[in-house]
Amino acid sequence: PSAPSSSRAHAEIDLAALRSNVRALRDRAPGARLMAVVKSDGYGHGAVPCARAAREAGAAWLGTATPEEALALRAAGDTGRLMCWLWTPGGPWQQAVESDVDVSVSGMWALREAVAAARAAGRPARVHLKIDTGLGRNGCTPADWPGLTAAARAAEAEGLVKVTGLWSHFACADEPGHASIAAQLEVFHEALAVAARAGLDPEVRHMANSPATLTVPESHFDLVRTGISMYGISPSPELGTPADFGLRPVMTLTARLALVKRVPAGHGVSYGQHYVTPGETTLGLVPVGYADGIPRHASGTGPVLVGGKWRTVAGRVAMDQFVVDLGGDSAEAGDEAVLFGPGDRGEPTAEDWARAVGTIAYEIVTRIGVRVPRVHV
Ligand code: PLP
Repeated sequence: PSAPSSSRAHAEIDLAALRSNVRALRDRAPGARLMAVVKSDGYGHGAVPCARAAREAGAAWLGTATPEEALALRAAGDTGRLMCWLWTPGGPWQQAVESDVDVSVSGMWALREAVAAARAAGRPARVHLKIDTGLGRNGCTPADWPGLTAAARAAEAEGLVKVTGLWSHFACADEPGHASIAAQLEVFHEALAVAARAGLDPEVRHMANSPATLTVPESHFDLVRTGISMYGISPSPELGTPADFGLRPVMTLTARLALVKRVPAGHGVSYGQHYVTPGETTLGLVPVGYADGIPRHASGTGPVLVGGKWRTVAGRVAMDQFVVDLGGDSAEAGDEAVLFGPGDRGEPTAEDWARAVGTIAYEIVTRIGVRVPRVHV
């Protein structure tokens, strides 16, 4: 569909594709429930509409990183199971407990916060205890796990906490067959046994992100936490294309040329004049820049579909705009420049951008700035 005639640029968000992706992922993990990960504004796609669409397609849980993101979903009317995991001391623990948001606890300080919030709220905190099975990021160490599980069980016996989940996160699930996958699973199984001996009987045990959901069935447990795949992007080109997994990209980023002009050979383009026209040519001005999330180092590499052909960013990406060399082709102001989308109209994909600038597609979509309106269809 074309950009609204008045818009400089917009990101169309295909919620039917998102719903279809959620169903495809649920089919991949038939024994587990699905948590739709909608942190970072739904990976740049709009958290609230994506959460709603994911619920419609059967997501039993929503997941966010920060408590503020979770509370925003509650404020928008979501009443289902919802978990957030990136806490700092002094965070909105009490609001989370009062809003029925499940909280992640990675250490004793966090358990104390959850217990204090439960006392203040007059109801138990719903807690997912997290163990670091090898990612080396959040989660308590296996050495501290017996202490944390015992303390959580004691708080549970007092009615201050309900341990609803035991969980962990993979380091290398996007690298097929990586030895750490089995090693982390083994540590997790041991941790579950320790927790059971402590008397914990959680509702959900969970570990799988998108790559593990797609390729490591033994990691599904009771719940899979899918982010990038739900937005129709493969976690890694090594694992396969979205189509290989029955997924369809959800976001299409389109801008409209702000100016088209004929210039002679030897014309420098953009800051630093790093691109110099090789001959007389036509330049098209694409009115999005690094402030909109277009990587500045896409110079000479970033692909854009204009007039049915792929063009490449000519010269530096500026804050609000960049230029493409249209060669001998005719174009006019207002013509569509499609930066990325599902790819089936010949446009590049977010994965193409990731490859072009040496990053991952997660970064491409999450960085699209707030100045680009999201149009949910
Ligand atoms: N679980 C946790 C703890 C995460 O931090 C993330 C995202 O990084 C996910 C699940 C979802 O990962 P993915 O987008 O690869 O599905």
